Amino acid sequence: MNTWLDVPNDHPFGPQTLPYGIFSTAAGGVRRVGVRVGDHVIDVSAVAALGGDPGDGPNLAVAWANPTLNPFIDLGPATWRTARAWLTEIVTNDVHRDAMLPHVYPLGDVALHLPIEVADYVDFYASEHHASNVGKVFRPDNAALPPNWKHLPIGYHGRAGTVVVSGTDVVRPTGQRKGPHDPEPVFGPSIRLDIEAELGYVVGGATDLGTRLSVDEAADHLFGVVILNDWSARDLQAWEYVPLGPFLGKSFATSISAWVTPLDALAAARVALPGQTDPVPLPYLRGDAFGFDVHVEVSLNGTVISRPEHAALYWSPAQMLAHLTVNGASVRTGDLFGSGTISGPTKGSRGSLLELTWNGTEPLALGDGSSRGFLDDGDTVTMTAWAPGPDGSRVGLGEVVGTIRPSV
Ligand code: CA
Repeated sequence: MNTWLDVPNDHPFGPQTLPYGIFSTAAGGVRRVGVRVGDHVIDVSAVAALGGDPGDGPNLAVAWANPTLNPFIDLGPATWRTARAWLTEIVTNDVHRDAMLPHVYPLGDVALHLPIEVADYVDFYASEHHASNVGKVFRPDNAALPPNWKHLPIGYHGRAGTVVVSGTDVVRPTGQRKGPHDPEPVFGPSIRLDIEAELGYVVGGATDLGTRLSVDEAADHLFGVVILNDWSARDLQAWEYVPLGPFLGKSFATSISAWVTPLDALAAARVALPGQTDPVPLPYLRGDAFGFDVHVEVSLNGTVISRPEHAALYWSPAQMLAHLTVNGASVRTGDLFGSGTISGPTKGSRGSLLELTWNGTEPLALGDGSSRGFLDDGDTVTMTAWAPGPDGSRVGLGEVVGTIRPSV
């Protein structure tokens, strides 16, 4: 596909991608929905208001003139597809050029904001390699995987109110820690601050309390995907997590990309899961349990430190959503759930410093000559991702960036 906008043919944000975000311009300051094409942002509510709004469906101009994507996502999967088809038409057909040009902004001239109002936030643990590595580090005397791990996608409820957009600084958390040889716990800034490279899945369409979604129904409730960095204070986590799981070691900040990639943009990236044969999951976890061939890249202060592969995950996002509702828990538009750290079998594909440095015992060498076990103040972590698109193209998934500030 070609666009009349000034975008190279091999650009990962060409018309094959069309992610949604929330932007404002220096002039106005009003937050509204934008769609990225190349290094441009289209003010789509303004364009839809010109009269090209697709027909008899819900009024996209109204839905897009909001400071979050939630009102648009709430319109449901048929409207998501109508909107995407219309956006594809207006960016690829020259006849729309003159009308649209006043509503196209250079990416570098706009501010990007948190794209969704996060309703509930859940984080899963879907990578077998990650779960095994963490088991070996934290529980060396036990089996690497807990006995439930291959029977259900393990998760925990996180803190929706501390999900922040890419570019937001992260203040080093303080809290209690107690090493295995410390006589008493101590209080202070975390000394083992870590990252977790994940994808986050954005849910659309509310369900009723007491109902559940099947694996096959889940796809119609998956609006799109963000890159997610689940910042983790390993020292706080290790002391607090037994028996109720992660709490303050995770809840201080979770960063997501400003761009939400629609699930429809990842149609060519759907892949089969690596296989769930021993054991076969219970019937409610079976169905069209697709994975995604998404390639993630993690950089620390400009040095690439890992290339995790989402296709290596054991559990599918559709299975995670089915499991999330199997007890009758309802979902809401704007719910966000994370994949869990994406780690592959090789050292270069591990998605956390805990694994990359084996709990700090094998420090990483950075390009500036320094080394890291965990994060220092001032460190900047950048995660990017791409997936195969139609006709040999690449679909970019934005980026998520964060810099560590000293604790207060
Ligand atoms: Ca996580």
